Amino acid sequence: VNMGKTTHIVVVPGPGFSHLVPILEFSKRLVQLHPFLHVTAFIPSLGSLPNVSKTFLKTLPPSITPTFLPPVDPNDLPHGLLIGVRMHLTVIYSLPFLHKALKSLTSRTPLVAIVVDNFAYEALDFAKEFNMLSYIYFPKSAFTLSMYFHLPKLNEETSCDFKDLPEPIQMPGCVPILGIDLHYQIQDRSSQGYQLFLQRVKRFCNVDGIFINTFVELEKEAIRALTKEGSGHPPVYPIGPIIQMDIRPNESECLRWLDKQQSKSVLYVSFGSGGTLSQVQITELALGLELSNHKFLWVVRAPSDSTSGAYLNSQDENPLEFLPCGFLERTKEQGLVIPSWAPQNVILSHCSIGGFMSHCGWNSTLESVLQGVPLIAWPLFAEQRMNAVLLSDGLKVALRPKVNGNGILEKEDIAEVIKNLMELEGGKMRKIMRGLKEAAIDAIKEDGYSSKTLYQSTIKWM
Ligand code: UDP
Repeated sequence: VNMGKTTHIVVVPGPGFSHLVPILEFSKRLVQLHPFLHVTAFIPSLGSLPNVSKTFLKTLPPSITPTFLPPVDPNDLPHGLLIGVRMHLTVIYSLPFLHKALKSLTSRTPLVAIVVDNFAYEALDFAKEFNMLSYIYFPKSAFTLSMYFHLPKLNEETSCDFKDLPEPIQMPGCVPILGIDLHYQIQDRSSQGYQLFLQRVKRFCNVDGIFINTFVELEKEAIRALTKEGSGHPPVYPIGPIIQMDIRPNESECLRWLDKQQSKSVLYVSFGSGGTLSQVQITELALGLELSNHKFLWVVRAPSDSTSGAYLNSQDENPLEFLPCGFLERTKEQGLVIPSWAPQNVILSHCSIGGFMSHCGWNSTLESVLQGVPLIAWPLFAEQRMNAVLLSDGLKVALRPKVNGNGILEKEDIAEVIKNLMELEGGKMRKIMRGLKEAAIDAIKEDGYSSKTLYQSTIKWM
């Protein structure tokens, strides 16, 4: 160990709030554990960064230096791409700038390691040239990582689309899953998105290690299978849960409102940093919330035809204009509607929250677990259906309502699932959640399993 001499590493986030913040929260943990570590983050982006990301970057400690790569112009990307492909291309367009930045930095100081988000894996190609160890920071579940490793085999063995497979797919240590619930980007096997995905997962086999934001008690068997000797995978290090720490707002309408509600009486409704619903679905959701008669706190966005309409896209319309006529007036005692963005972790930690209707993004999932809040799973894109399967079938801490033939969740079904969670199933699920919450807190204590794993896997850098 190099006492007193600073060691430098580089991290490369993926584009988008939920691929920027996780790897930087991870970096914060690293510099806490290793006081002589310095992290430089080279940040790719599509267009300018949203304000929430800028605000977050201002909170970084001095031992983490954020450096912006020139933003990619959204007009340079073809129209109509899947979100995953947009993210991928953003990184590809940023690679020449990253190369230049690495060259300049290494001329001043040796870099021990490069850690990249799963969307920035192509940056790993520079590891050899600059003599760095190479790592992936995977801000997703062990279930999803298992799917990455399983996909080349599935690809070879299957000729149809995965949604047409008659039997659920069984991956080592994982809950069985229907093909239709696998990652959104691999549903159409004739697409460019599928080919890019396959390319990405093959690259995963060839790194010095993969840090994964999960913890043993949450995904025991899947982690065991991934970390087993002779598995043929690179070392996998479960080091989570690492979540974003909100800056507590001094004054906030939603907290004042929550303070007035009864314990565990409010359903929090939010679809992540960029999830969007169609106009038809917004109307059904509004009427379903009203029909349920339960208190709600809803972070509402303007409608979009794409389920990821606000991811890497700024929306300029006022979301409140798309609610059904008279809804706000009729529900003014029952609920609170917040446009676009809310301090999610502060809300989830409030004692009035009794349930979370969520798109099941992995960060939201971990945040709910850390606050012991049971969920209604309403997956939209990316690997969210896999998270929904894990939460509902696997861990039994979420209810998953069914959509109709047009992919719409109808108001009666919405009201029913809310009642089911808030009146019937919630207690049982909360009890399971309490166990997971305690295990999560233990895992990230100073001598917890995840903390020790992170320390032991990185001490060789120092
Ligand atoms: N988030 C937030 N306020 C919002 C919406 C989202 O603070 O109004 C945060 C949330 O706490 C989480 C992240 O944004 O940390 C969303 O990440 P997730 O993986 O759940 O979903 P994604 O944004 O990737 O769809």
